[in-house]
Amino acid sequence: MTVQIAVLAVQGAFIEHEQTMRSLGAEVFELRQLRDLERRCDALILPGGESTVQSKLLKELKLFIPLKQLISNGLPVMATCAGAILLAEKIDNDPAVHFGTLPVTIRRNAFGRQLASFYTDGKFSRVPDPVPMPFIRAPQIISAADGVEILSSWQNQPTAVRYKNQLALTWHPEITGCGEIHRYFLENIVKKQG
Ligand code: GLN
Repeated sequence: MTVQIAVLAVQGAFIEHEQTMRSLGAEVFELRQLRDLERRCDALILPGGESTVQSKLLKELKLFIPLKQLISNGLPVMATCAGAILLAEKIDNDPAVHFGTLPVTIRRNAFGRQLASFYTDGKFSRVPDPVPMPFIRAPQIISAADGVEILSSWQNQPTAVRYKNQLALTWHPEITGCGEIHRYFLENIVKKQG
């Protein structure tokens, strides 16, 4: 059966995730309201954008608690940037905790104005060749608990981590045209789960 992916589409850069997943043969639907969760859903994508806005909208739409439960119960989730902030157990420079399901501490907008957005090619441990890594007002993972696998780093700081069913990246693989990270998620987290 084709994998069916829900892409959270309340705010931010969700279309690029949809296109990348479709190019890999997955079926995709946009998650905008509670009713959308009645559909079969094998995995969830939390896109980049503005984490505080996304969290507020999720609560208003009554999606917050069901999504937190689904993630806690093992639904595979791929989160980029603001999505990673939503998952983090602790935000170093913000008293808020959103889903809090990923045992890392993250710092929002960690690179300051000078280096707010930058691009590098880097190693993602499960992909043979370096992959393009655009950072856009990126957060920084400043610590990770035991059991969190570090999949990519920049200047010795983790930039992609996996913990059980959760894959979180501080950069944006969805805008590069390189489908390797989405493929890793599908092959190693989504398909292994079922
Ligand atoms: N700075 C944003 C936040 O704190 C994240 C940026 C992004 O998703 N590109 O939510």
